[in-house]
Amino acid sequence: MNATGLKCIECLNESELSATAYTCPKCGGNQDVVYDYVKIKNLFSRETLSQNPDRSIWRYKALLPIDESVAVPRVQIGWTPLYSYEDWAKDFGIGNLFIKDDGRNPSASFKDRASAVAVVKAQEAKAKFIACASTGNAASSLACICASIGMPSYIFVPKTAPEAKIAQLLVFGAKVLAIDGTYDEAFDLCIKASEEFGWYSRNTGFNPFTREGKKTAAFEIAEQLNWSVPDYVVVSMGDGNIVSGLHKGFRDLFEVGFIDRIPKLIGVQAEGAMPLVTAFNNASPIKPVSTNTFADSIAVGFPRDATAALKALRDSDGKAIAVSDDQISAAQTLLAQRGAVFAEPAAAAAFAGFLKLADSGQFNSRDNVAIVITGNGLKDIKSVLGRISPLPIISPDIESVKDYINR
Ligand SMILES: *Cc1c(COP(=O)(O)O)cnc(C)c1O
Ligand SMILES: [Zn+2]
Repeated sequence: MNATGLKCIECLNESELSATAYTCPKCGGNQDVVYDYVKIKNLFSRETLSQNPDRSIWRYKALLPIDESVAVPRVQIGWTPLYSYEDWAKDFGIGNLFIKDDGRNPSASFKDRASAVAVVKAQEAKAKFIACASTGNAASSLACICASIGMPSYIFVPKTAPEAKIAQLLVFGAKVLAIDGTYDEAFDLCIKASEEFGWYSRNTGFNPFTREGKKTAAFEIAEQLNWSVPDYVVVSMGDGNIVSGLHKGFRDLFEVGFIDRIPKLIGVQAEGAMPLVTAFNNASPIKPVSTNTFADSIAVGFPRDATAALKALRDSDGKAIAVSDDQISAAQTLLAQRGAVFAEPAAAAAFAGFLKLADSGQFNSRDNVAIVITGNGLKDIKSVLGRISPLPIISPDIESVKDYINR
């Protein structure tokens, strides 16, 4: 293993790496995994990587906090497609537009990257159970990855989570605690229960290995673009763990000399849940909010990886912006009809953020922009059905087809 320790993101205290060392022993802050980049540089190059036939996040084991020899879940995680839209980019007056479709993961969201690494750490800790709180996707992801290795899971979700995500939980066999409360309440309860019952905790940000799993998307974007990174990477933010993960991934690649610059990261939130945007734009501490958005996966009132997320935006010279639910709906439709990618609302929020910035003249004609689509639209079809007019019913004869065409 090339990870050497943990470093607190708040007080910079350094401590020993262990699967169950969650938050900082000194101040309780979230921790960052530290690596021996000199060692990694000596055994890992762009050339050795290019000869690795593994098309999953595990091709980057040298940059993950796990042993090379460790058994990993059998379902394929990561190496999702990065689509290039040269023609569409012209409409926006930019160099190129890339869409990374992370809805193409085993449980249909980006969260599989984090669950996979957390589950390997849970096995290392010889845990009997693993638990997490989730707005829905971390939950269905953990349930899926646990099913792939036969580990039981306890999942805390707000009872309002979309039906398809709850169906995934039940089908994959998780023990589900549907909380009569918000995600933020489910999170605190899950941490308490995990301590009380000795479950391994996959809670986002609180568990430092979720960020390590999520950073693999940055590795893939860079490698899929032949190590010429985009100027901007746009992603939506709830807890802020994906954006901090992407930043960690690009920083890792920079440290080992695979890339020569770090893209500007743009974090997008829904107007009805924008504590990170407010804190970033006012350079103020996080003020918890009550949430009001149909983009359930980013309906987070108290972001659990805020310090690292804000640092990622600042250090990459990025931006934080908010979009309305109407803008998210419009972006979801456009992305499907022009880009052929069906995104759930929280994922479409990233595209809405891009549209808003493109409109405001943020990008120049040479800029390459990559947008990470974090979850599949089939997870929440109610969000779409609500705005489609009633489906016309046709009698089974050619006259009716003629009527339909000529309408
Ligand atoms: C979890 C999630 C996000 C936000 O990720 P954070 O790490 O909470 O910021 C965005 N989109 C989808 C689809 C998600 O499931
Ligand atoms: Zn600390």
